[in-house]
Amino acid sequence: MDLRLVADAAALDAERAKMREPPELRAARQQAAAAEQQLTGGRTALAAAELDVAAVAAKKQEVHTRLYSGRVTVPRELAALEAEEEALARKQGELEEHQLELMAGVEKAEQALAAARREAEEQLAQWRQEGGAAHAHVPLLEVALESLKQQRQEAAASIDAALLASYERLKLRKANRAVALVEHNLCQGCGVALPSSEVQRARGAEPPLLCSNCGRMLYVR
Ligand SMILES: [Zn+2]
Repeated sequence: MDLRLVADAAALDAERAKMREPPELRAARQQAAAAEQQLTGGRTALAAAELDVAAVAAKKQEVHTRLYSGRVTVPRELAALEAEEEALARKQGELEEHQLELMAGVEKAEQALAAARREAEEQLAQWRQEGGAAHAHVPLLEVALESLKQQRQEAAASIDAALLASYERLKLRKANRAVALVEHNLCQGCGVALPSSEVQRARGAEPPLLCSNCGRMLYVR
């Protein structure tokens, strides 16, 4: 009964743990939030880069229009306008290159966000399923555990107080296994072979005989 109590309590703890949000889900959500933040940052930078390109392109167009308007005739001024147009074209090229890099970054961030969201959704679905099952199991396990505790209490009440006390002390020292079954003359607590005479004396002994090797209370069927 005591071994069953320990096992059932552990099973109940495990089911209760399934009801709590799993760390994998929390991690997936955090990853999705981080990806979203990165995407927002990337989109903002891209919008700014697009404005920069448009501004330079407009300026270049303006210079180009003046250059071929026929209103500027002084060669030195024409040469200056040509140089300015070239410089603006170079600048535009640089900015467009930067814009392309940002676009690639945004695309990557979009993919990362989609993957992170999928992962979070999968984790959530799994948790809903497992957590839902646990939600139904836990009250049943609680009732069963309570009933087992009560049975144990009733059984303990019929045992001699001094014997019960020594059992309890032994249980603490032997990791809950204070009683060892004897099978084929072997102590199942420690695995050591017992002399037949010891097994004979252990049978139905009151108080129980202790294993000469591990000190557990021997129980012979
Ligand atoms: Zn033993």
